[in-house]
Amino acid sequence: MKYGFSERVKYLKSSAVRDILKVINQGNIISFAGGLPEESLFPIEAVDQAFHKAVTTNTKSLQYGETEGVKELRDLLAERMKQKGLVRQAENILVTSGSQQAIDLFSRVMFNKGDVILTENPTYLAALQVFESYETKVVAVDSDDDGMIIQDLEAKIAKFKPKCIYVVPTYSNPTGKVWSLERRLKLLELANKYHVVIFEDDPYGELQFDKEQAPPSIASLDENNLVLYTSTFSKTVVPAMRIGWIVGPYQIIRIMAQAKQASDLHTNSISQHALVHLLKDFDIDQHIQTIRDTYYERMLVMKELLDSVSIEGLSYIAPKGGMFFWVSLPKEMNTTALLDEAVKEGVAFVPGAPFYVSDAEENTLRLNFTNSSPALIREGMEKLVKVLENAKVH
Ligand code: PMP
Repeated sequence: MKYGFSERVKYLKSSAVRDILKVINQGNIISFAGGLPEESLFPIEAVDQAFHKAVTTNTKSLQYGETEGVKELRDLLAERMKQKGLVRQAENILVTSGSQQAIDLFSRVMFNKGDVILTENPTYLAALQVFESYETKVVAVDSDDDGMIIQDLEAKIAKFKPKCIYVVPTYSNPTGKVWSLERRLKLLELANKYHVVIFEDDPYGELQFDKEQAPPSIASLDENNLVLYTSTFSKTVVPAMRIGWIVGPYQIIRIMAQAKQASDLHTNSISQHALVHLLKDFDIDQHIQTIRDTYYERMLVMKELLDSVSIEGLSYIAPKGGMFFWVSLPKEMNTTALLDEAVKEGVAFVPGAPFYVSDAEENTLRLNFTNSSPALIREGMEKLVKVLENAKVH
């Protein structure tokens, strides 16, 4: 039977990370591959009580709801964002099924075939998947440790007339980088000068390790209604609730709500009502502090082991928050090839190449440190170091 798929299907790609996870889940492998939060930190009792309360006290939690999201939840989100200097009204917020849906809905209402999106290189793989599925052209901007290089950004804005600049400026996936305040302001200045919308993806902003705060979100510095900002409860409560949100110019949010209506009518009502209870009854900020402390400790264990590798030319970005180490090996080493060796040894990572828009650096890899205990990190890193050092010798 020939099923006759749409032309669009050829732009849908399977995620390299998900494919790797499938293999890893089959065996007894220590995985630094997925971007998973630590399950022992899930606030099980609080989630249980919140869902119980949602279901037993208000039948609205079981009913169809507003596409924009439960108003009480949007009010609480506005309040939480305000505490971080991002002052927006509930009507500028759309509750989504994770940030992933925010990226998809935004793309659906903004991009025509051939439209250009500027991104960092490397950047979040699943955003690239979405952008490509809408037949856009993604163009990489050069960057250094502080964010995009402004000269290259301006040159590429002038050359490509992009529709949007997509950034993950705080504890990025995959690199763990944080944009400096200066670069954030410069990005806004250019976006304003050339009338380009910025899409700020911020799932990790709350997962900081240092006392030193990351610079304010780009959205909170925006005075010209240019920034769409998305975040999520996937990393701070549980990913399975699938609650994210996007805030931005009302004209865009309104059209995105229409697209959402066509897609899934609204985000899961039980999850939204449960989250309202959770935010009221549970000290989420205290919980986030516990997550930060735990992840910080794990990051330090991984860092110590990375420091012990005797390969000249190995470098990494020490994360100040988030979930990942981004490691560069000597140029001649290929991490896609090394993954097979690593899996045979019982450890996994994600090769860096799929995160690149262009000019992939095959000698890079991403390591997650949040989903393994310190003991497992030690065991897994021992295996990984062995694989890397062996590969270097041959
Ligand atoms: N953006 C980035 C940069 C991410 O790393 C993730 C999760 N891996 C998401 C968006 C999507 O998160 P969710 O849909 O769970 O909110």
